[in-house]
Amino acid sequence: MRFGGIIALGGVSFAVGRGQICGLIGPNGSGKTTLFNCISGIYRHSRGDILFEGQSLSGLPRHRMAALGIGRTFQNVALFDSMTVRDNMLVGAHHLGRSGFAANALRLPGPRREEAQARGKLPELLDLLDLRAVADMAVGGMPFGTRKRVELARALIGAPKLLLLDEPAGGLNHGEVEELERLLRLIRAHFDLSILLVEHHMNLVMRVSDQVVALEFGMKIADGTPGQVRNEPEVIRAYLGE
Ligand code: ADP
Repeated sequence: MRFGGIIALGGVSFAVGRGQICGLIGPNGSGKTTLFNCISGIYRHSRGDILFEGQSLSGLPRHRMAALGIGRTFQNVALFDSMTVRDNMLVGAHHLGRSGFAANALRLPGPRREEAQARGKLPELLDLLDLRAVADMAVGGMPFGTRKRVELARALIGAPKLLLLDEPAGGLNHGEVEELERLLRLIRAHFDLSILLVEHHMNLVMRVSDQVVALEFGMKIADGTPGQVRNEPEVIRAYLGE
């Protein structure tokens, strides 16, 4: 991935196993967000390829990626404050659903079926993410940790096979990070999905990930179990800046 003359990502290659949690780490500017944006189709990489279940994602429109089963959250929680938790989740079903914007706008049968499926999944997700008590309350003014859970629920309602989480622990306090760790394990076990996690909270990444990939200057410097990556001299050097 190039921006003008800058190679933001070059020669980064790794695989995420089915049902695994893969943590993506690296100092600021190492290319984590760029990689996420390439995988979810926001950026178009100039070389290389990204495969999902053997199929190339290069050049696919974003709604097709959602249809294949790739969901994501964003660093800055963008919920609709005046809408209830329940309705915010259903918005996720439209945005991450199986059809494009045009089909939704035209109210074709596909989107209606998606909405019905999403409504069917609501009770399970409300329970799993401990949101049932606030399901019919407006999201505005809710504690940050609750909003993060709504955002997770909104991503999950699209039934992703791969969930891209962009700094889910950002802004959370210690207790909320522990709660997030519990939720990530629960989600993975419950839905049999894979998670790619960009996260600065190193303890969380190391505890929750099956695999950790470390980037620096747009290149992969380590890839392995948390124990392996934590002890990798290149990673220690990158973080300590030696
Ligand atoms: P990280 O998420 O690891 O902090 P980024 O992916 O944001 O890193 O940035 C990787 C590199 O790509 C940086 O050098 C950054 O300046 C550059 N970059 C990212 N996005 C853009 C953009 N839209 N235009 C130009 N350069 C960019």
